[in-house]
Amino acid sequence: MPALLPLLVLSLASCGEKTAPVEAAADPLPDWANAVIGDMDRSADPCQDFYRYACGGWMDRTELPADKPSWTRSFSVIADQNREFLHQLLERAAAEPDAKDADWARMGHFYGACMDVDAIEKAGLTDLQPELDRISALADARDLWPLVGELGMIGADVLFTGEVEGDFLDPQLTILHLGPGGLGLPDRDYYLKDDPASKQLLADYEKHVAAILTLAGDAPEAAAASASAIVAFETKLAETHPPREELRDPSKTYHRLDRAGLEEQVPSVDWGAWLAAQGIPDVTTINVYSPEATKGMAELVRSTDLDVLKAYLRWHLLSAFAPQLGQAFFDEDHAFYGVKVYGQQEPEPRWKRCVRATSRAMGEVLGRYFVEEKFGGDSKERALAMVEDIEQAFGEGLEQLDWMDEATRKVALEKRDALGNKIGYPDKWRDYSGLEVTADDHVANVLAARRHEARWWLDQVGKPHDPTIWYMTPQMVNAYYHPLFNEMVFPAGILQPPFFAASQPGTLNYGAMGSVMGHELSHGFDDSGRQFDPHGRMVQWWSDEAVKNFEERAACVERQFDGFEAQPGLHVNGKLTLGEDIADLGGVRTAYRAWKKRYPDEAGVAGLTADQLFFVAYAQAWCTVSAPEYEKMLVTSDPHAPARFRVIGPLSNLDEFHEAFSCPVGTPMHPENTCEVW
Ligand SMILES: [Zn+2]
Repeated sequence: MPALLPLLVLSLASCGEKTAPVEAAADPLPDWANAVIGDMDRSADPCQDFYRYACGGWMDRTELPADKPSWTRSFSVIADQNREFLHQLLERAAAEPDAKDADWARMGHFYGACMDVDAIEKAGLTDLQPELDRISALADARDLWPLVGELGMIGADVLFTGEVEGDFLDPQLTILHLGPGGLGLPDRDYYLKDDPASKQLLADYEKHVAAILTLAGDAPEAAAASASAIVAFETKLAETHPPREELRDPSKTYHRLDRAGLEEQVPSVDWGAWLAAQGIPDVTTINVYSPEATKGMAELVRSTDLDVLKAYLRWHLLSAFAPQLGQAFFDEDHAFYGVKVYGQQEPEPRWKRCVRATSRAMGEVLGRYFVEEKFGGDSKERALAMVEDIEQAFGEGLEQLDWMDEATRKVALEKRDALGNKIGYPDKWRDYSGLEVTADDHVANVLAARRHEARWWLDQVGKPHDPTIWYMTPQMVNAYYHPLFNEMVFPAGILQPPFFAASQPGTLNYGAMGSVMGHELSHGFDDSGRQFDPHGRMVQWWSDEAVKNFEERAACVERQFDGFEAQPGLHVNGKLTLGEDIADLGGVRTAYRAWKKRYPDEAGVAGLTADQLFFVAYAQAWCTVSAPEYEKMLVTSDPHAPARFRVIGPLSNLDEFHEAFSCPVGTPMHPENTCEVW
């Protein structure tokens, strides 16, 4: 039910060998330096294409793994190591489930059942049958709504989404938020664009829906007719969705209603039944992100034949479980979503899928073992010291801003001072004792885990915010900023090389991890995050003049990214990526300032000055190879720009970068008009 990352949580990432022409050094280089230098292409001109210069060596010899849609030098390599660690852990737990405590048995059984392909094949659709029966028994449109509530809890995205999140005006109170949802494709654009490639993908989607329904027992002609009606329905639903970039503006997505208000605005939905099905019948306060979308959805449902709605629910239930079902369902799901939507050529081996499934089911159980092994010593203290440097440097930047008046600056500094940090892992681990797992029924386990997760979130509704909550697991290679709680969170998973290591010089640690920390901090001051005050409330603390100056600067960044062409004819959507782009720019600037202060005299290596090495380290965090389908999905629906623009965009705006590489004005990495926000 609640998406893993609600709308407001701002994450870091969504995820012929050339030899560098360097003189052989008299002394052998340390390992970190060999890794950095070997991944560059020093024959490229850093002022023309710095991404090529920093990443060319790595890109030339890195093939996209067949089971991945995208592969990044830092994120993916660390994630792979983390996954391998969890793999060994889960194999041990599955072999000896009784060796330790109940959580150990829980994860061992879950993983073991997931690996048991014979049992999964034999079970077929048995575990889903009660829900499938409820759908086919649906006789009256009024009975639709409890079913929609139940399906949402088990991961079927139907009609709209519910999220559990703080109230924007009173973040210490947790409330329910309604958002647009219910599409089988990643974004409304996939239905509404009429270029040949988009039309082909939509036709392929219809075939895929029919294939899944056929596998579930429908006659082929009936399945084809249902699929056609489902895609027509989803296309109309897509028309009710606002463009994704509009959902990024909190002031436009805050429409808090009480129950009577919601029932008056959208009377054809039985809200009481929908809430009761989720165990929260007494909810009185609900925020509706897009009232137009919710009204449009309700009107569409009202005017749609019940048989079409039933086919639509059936399809979404099957699709939500297809990757967990037997081989035929899995293959059909992969052939469409894996290959055609994301560009992932081969499926992952079963063990990887089962590690992921177990991690989704009980992330903090695995996380506890992960940090015991992988996050020891003084890792937390060292990361915290670095965060403090970054916060300090951001404040110094604020003091020097010439476009911000004193009153606004004062509150900005207060917001910086009020910022909270979470590093490594939660102080309080989640309790999974209510999650019942069997040793031999994978789909039943997935159902139980999804209900357990939804229950846990729904139980927060109407209660004060629990400050111990983490929105990511410790093993994730990512980070986030939460504007309602004004806090940055850095899981243990990302605090590893090449982002961060005691054995690396400051240039690398600050260039890579420092920029990540600066990125998260800057989210508190991006076009969305700036709308929240030091206490996370959506109140205006800016002077009108400062708002005007900020918006001019943000518009510069938006124009810059609009100009980036990811694929012929496919431009980055500067409005959609604006928050991330401002965070990237602020992040690397802040990290540079912090690094210079902490390490004023650091040395370079192998012909690179220390400043050059800092910028190479920043860029190398983003070296990526990816499938064109994946890149298209990112550009259409993800608030992060493709990796190469996250390097080229921010660095081309920095004077420190221009100086480090002596880039003349007018080169691509030193345009005449540069942008500066923080
Ligand atoms: Zn971000």
